[in-house]
Amino acid sequence: MEIDGLVLRVNQYRDYDAMVCVINERSSFSFLARGIRKIQSKNSFSVLPFAESHFDLMKTKDGLSLKTGSIIKSHSKLRDSFIGLTMFDFIGEVTSKFLLEKDYYKAYPSIKRVIELLESGFDHYTLAIIYLAFILNESGYGWSVDKCQKCGQKDDIVAINTSSGGFMCRDCFDGQNGAKLSTRLLKIIRYIFMVKPEMYDHIAFEKDECLVVLSLLEEFILGTVEFKLKSLKLLQN
Ligand SMILES: [Zn+2]
Repeated sequence: MEIDGLVLRVNQYRDYDAMVCVINERSSFSFLARGIRKIQSKNSFSVLPFAESHFDLMKTKDGLSLKTGSIIKSHSKLRDSFIGLTMFDFIGEVTSKFLLEKDYYKAYPSIKRVIELLESGFDHYTLAIIYLAFILNESGYGWSVDKCQKCGQKDDIVAINTSSGGFMCRDCFDGQNGAKLSTRLLKIIRYIFMVKPEMYDHIAFEKDECLVVLSLLEEFILGTVEFKLKSLKLLQN
């Protein structure tokens, strides 16, 4: 079985092996890559973070296993940078926590666009909050950002409710479970839940703004889904 795909996650398995998760436009695959952590492995480059490769896989009784892999596009500039690796961990963790493995491929257009923009030097904090909002939308946890979640009015939105995930108007916000935010931050939150991949580079936000949004999303995720995203720590530095 031969497939082309983008490496989304690599999990160390035993001493020299790894479980590799790969996606393309149509599907998601996981396979065991034996010996790829050995220096002399000829397949190791094909399963590096963000690599786009051609894989020849064989079916075994335990699932798919890698026969040979060859690089199509290495994205080596990203892989060799701290930002690139941080984003790889973040994208892999967020995707695998919120989507079922068979659905990982649904994130492919978004991830491809994030990679392209990271390579062009676009702000990674902005891309991180956009990607997290994208995954929340995709998994049914998207925030309600066009009206007050409680009364439905569109005017006088002043806060975000981080327990239910959505906008609150001045009358409905009770000061619990969330925070009053500036108009600009509310606009940023609305934007990240609406923006389509082709528009991801429309605007870059300030780092501080992104970190505030990130911590609100983190609070929501902790409270609602009860996940602690480990990769957030590196991003928040
Ligand atoms: Zn209201």
